[in-house]
Amino acid sequence: MAAQPKILDGKWLSAQICSHIGAEVAKYQQRVGRAPGLGVILVGDNPASQTYVANKEKTAKKCGFNTFDARLPASSSAKEVLAAIEKFNADPNVDGILLQLPLPAGIDSGPLIESIRPDKDADGLHPVNQGLLMRGAGVLRPCTPLGSMKLIDLAYSPVTPSETSTLGELPQADLAGKSVVVIGRSVLVGKPVGLLALERNATVTMAHSKTKDLPALCRSADILIVAVGIPQLVKGDWVADGAVVIDVGINRLPSGKLVGDVDFESVAPRCSAITPVPGGVGPMTIAMLILNTLRSFKTRHALA
Ligand code: NAP
Repeated sequence: MAAQPKILDGKWLSAQICSHIGAEVAKYQQRVGRAPGLGVILVGDNPASQTYVANKEKTAKKCGFNTFDARLPASSSAKEVLAAIEKFNADPNVDGILLQLPLPAGIDSGPLIESIRPDKDADGLHPVNQGLLMRGAGVLRPCTPLGSMKLIDLAYSPVTPSETSTLGELPQADLAGKSVVVIGRSVLVGKPVGLLALERNATVTMAHSKTKDLPALCRSADILIVAVGIPQLVKGDWVADGAVVIDVGINRLPSGKLVGDVDFESVAPRCSAITPVPGGVGPMTIAMLILNTLRSFKTRHALA
């Protein structure tokens, strides 16, 4: 049992990644004559979505990006949202498009996500990019799964996040033969993170609400990734000694406190590394949105 698990500080890691992105942007801006551009579409006034969008735009600006806003009222029709997407699709200064989800009730997000140009799909959710991921190809991968993989790389790297530590290149961890259990099979998180781990030669098991004896399955994992949406579902005795635990869940308790899908208090003493909630996967999702937009910019200008 590890007495002191490594805390996989997503705020720290995202700040390190953003500082590398900022340096790249400064370099490329001179060659291309403009910074990468992120187009952000927010429909309605959901307070959580407003906060997410504000954080994404703040981070983009910090990295030297231009941001372009389309704010639409909750009463908007799907056609009006489509018009905002098409405007960004056609704008040569926009490299990545973020359509903040969820959309207000009555607007189906599926066809709208499909209307985003695949090469500007900063969230990596377009069916073309999902299909490419399935084939182990493509450039734009979904942000939360990608951020979770970077946190796993941090877990196995010798670097420990701290106020004074800085990150050079984060090496990819060797996951060959490691047992990865993913709880949750959503299109947004569970399935793609399973594919990313598989691509890295891990042996992946996908669990869900119909899985039998989930605690025993979890105990078989070297790496446990939890994306369910049930507060503190995973308890200490579900986790093998020395496991790496990535908690994707974000749940607000009636008290207002934010917690993950993992019971941090009982699980942390057993693991070698664990993400906190908040401050783990969440900030990494934002950093990966910015990274995807940079990738799209580089592809467009043949800088890769
Ligand atoms: P989702 O679409 O609701 O999927 C939840 C998954 O959990 C489903 O596959 C479901 O199984 C499974 N599940 C439900 N109850 C279960 C149980 N008792 N035991 C085992 N599996 C169970 O959710 P999501 O979009 O993937 O999000 C999951 C969590 O991650 C949420 O808390 C969400 O807020 C959070 N999240 C965080 C970020 C971030 O940036 N940190 C990003 C996205 C999502 P079935 O398929 O059988 O129904």
